[in-house]
Amino acid sequence: MPKNDLSDIDITSIKGIGAHMTKMLLKLGIKSVIDAVYYLPYRYEDRSNLKKIEGLICGETETVCGTIISAETTQTHRFKIFVLTLRDDTGMFQAKWFNQAYLSKTFHKGQSVIFNGLIKHGVNANCFEMQNPEYEIITDDLEDNVHTNRIVPVYKTTAGLTVKTLRKTMFNIINTALPFLEEQIPPQIIKKYGLIGIHDCIKTLHFPDTDVDIESLIRGESPAHIRLAFNELFFLELGLVTLRRDKERDIGIAFNIDQGLKTTLIKNLPFKLTFAQSRVLKDISNDMKKPTPMNRLIQGDVGSGKTIVALLAMLDAIDSGYQAVVMAPTEILAIQHYINISKLLKDFDKIGVCLLTGKKAISCRTLTESDSCDDVRKEIKNGLVSIIIGTHSLIQESVGFDRLGLIVIDEQHRFGVMQRAKLQKKGIKGVFPDILIMTATPIPRTLALTLYGDMNYSVIDELPPGRKPVRTLLYYESHKQGVYDQISRELNSGGRIYVVYPLVEDSETMDLHSAIKGKEAFILKFKEARVGLIHGRMKVSEKQAVMNEFKDGLIDILVCTTVIEVGIDVPEATLMLIIHAERFGLSQLHQLRGRVGRGKRESLCILLAYYPMSEEAKQRMAVMVKTSNGFEIAEEDLKIRGPGEFLGTKQSGLPDLKVTDINKHASLLQAAKDEAEQLLCEDPQLTKYPLLKKGLNDFWHGKIEIVKTL
Ligand code: ADP
Ligand code: MG
Repeated sequence: MPKNDLSDIDITSIKGIGAHMTKMLLKLGIKSVIDAVYYLPYRYEDRSNLKKIEGLICGETETVCGTIISAETTQTHRFKIFVLTLRDDTGMFQAKWFNQAYLSKTFHKGQSVIFNGLIKHGVNANCFEMQNPEYEIITDDLEDNVHTNRIVPVYKTTAGLTVKTLRKTMFNIINTALPFLEEQIPPQIIKKYGLIGIHDCIKTLHFPDTDVDIESLIRGESPAHIRLAFNELFFLELGLVTLRRDKERDIGIAFNIDQGLKTTLIKNLPFKLTFAQSRVLKDISNDMKKPTPMNRLIQGDVGSGKTIVALLAMLDAIDSGYQAVVMAPTEILAIQHYINISKLLKDFDKIGVCLLTGKKAISCRTLTESDSCDDVRKEIKNGLVSIIIGTHSLIQESVGFDRLGLIVIDEQHRFGVMQRAKLQKKGIKGVFPDILIMTATPIPRTLALTLYGDMNYSVIDELPPGRKPVRTLLYYESHKQGVYDQISRELNSGGRIYVVYPLVEDSETMDLHSAIKGKEAFILKFKEARVGLIHGRMKVSEKQAVMNEFKDGLIDILVCTTVIEVGIDVPEATLMLIIHAERFGLSQLHQLRGRVGRGKRESLCILLAYYPMSEEAKQRMAVMVKTSNGFEIAEEDLKIRGPGEFLGTKQSGLPDLKVTDINKHASLLQAAKDEAEQLLCEDPQLTKYPLLKKGLNDFWHGKIEIVKTL
């Protein structure tokens, strides 16, 4: 078969790739030539410019090549020191390792070795030394200059495969692959943004010529990086635009808006909607009126009042004769929604509300109290209830609806694209229900554009009036007494306190203070206080009972794990103590803090941090003390963690981005989005661009059926 495509090349047909190497490559995730092409070096070393020994500068990190003239192990009273003495035609230097005598098996007199490390003054004043340097032994069988005299790629490798062997293999693969690389991006776009060709790009990223700008290459900002990032973003956006377009073609429901129920509830609310709530509600109404399905994401910081907005939208759906479903990430949150929504609707006798979670906890307003899931499922199926609240168990086969019109998903970050789609299939045959997603996870705008590119997007960027900002204090374990003093003060003035622990029980592997032990400690410390405990391993009914006691003021200190992270609303709680705050991520800390500051009294959040603490943990603590603005925190989080982790593409169901750095490539993202929209507008089926279409399919392969309409 003639090879005309990268995917036609069998990786095992390439020189040097036998059974063992195939296994090793597999361990690195390289199954095919295409995988290898996108397996990029994690760093580069400039060996085009190896230093001569006489040119080494003390205090600098240098790369130098020398021939071993002696190798010996010496013993001091504390260490075994392995010392290599090397020379080139300008001088001598030494490399030293402490307590690594086994290296004597690795090095031999006469070998040429490249070292990279910090140059120090040696014991012998005439001779510089490096301690524990990185090294690479140069063997004689160098048939090409893959390893020296050039900018050398360093790939992450695995046990049983040396950096050097891997590099050589990669060299063979890339050389084989290059002639078959196709330019998939349309030439007019390449030209418009001054991008380099894909051939150059891949060659440079793996085996750069000596004349490239090594600095920008090392920083990941070379034209080759930009080109590849554009590829990723362009394919990502093409996919997202296609998805969105597909959805717009789906048949949805044109709801009647502003009939009776919504207006009545707004009138009866004990508060006025904020300006932001009204604006977002209008966005939603506009979507719901249209005959195409709504796909809207509502972002709003904790406490911004998303629930009421969702409920008002549900009333419009019910007025039009449809059912609405609310899916929450945890049982406890589902129960809370059930209670809140039932309360808000207490004057609306005709609206049946029910709760359906994985296990039990089922009841139906306006219907006879019922305890069996089957009964409630029947009520849902027969249309006896209009609002169905539950967890992901709603996705199960056994749950069917009568006339599902609106899906509300709370705290989206816990659900994936696939789960969303499954629920949407439960509508009336051939008709797609509207989808409203609410998330409190603050996402930087640049990222939201990417993550939710297939959705419309509104932000509730205003908190209800009268909220007092939460003061945040950082204490270290050595100053624990200060924390106890704060708690005493709060208890004396009638406050209620959350104490959050990272673990339920003490674990042998991790020295963290657990919630169960913590409860005992708090009972001993604060004899007058009533201390409760709540964690994820308790039964739902037990959890609910404890939550109620805390709500009703029967518990003063609620010791808990992160089960209270989302959605819990007890306005009387005024102090949030987070034990081992250094163990939590920023967005989790922000969510936790959002549980206080919901009432009239000024609230306090105390972060109790334990040593040792990583640099990143210190940064996180500083951010929490500095700001309580969710979006600011999200931007900081993005800076600290980088986009890879932040994107959480595994959860979102989107393809991985390998080189794109949202911080660096924000403007590229906008360009990619614009071009993707324009191209698909001009050529909806991409008929003029078969290579692009193929690339798009490869990029999204197995993720979503992206090109079903292409
Ligand atoms: P979140 O956006 O975190 O889900 P909630 O919907 O739970 O926020 O609302 C938090 C609290 O604020 C609730 O007790 C709710 O009744 C109240 N609330 C919502 N909107 C307003 C408003 N416009 N004015 C005053 N209080 C409001
Ligand atoms: Mg909420």
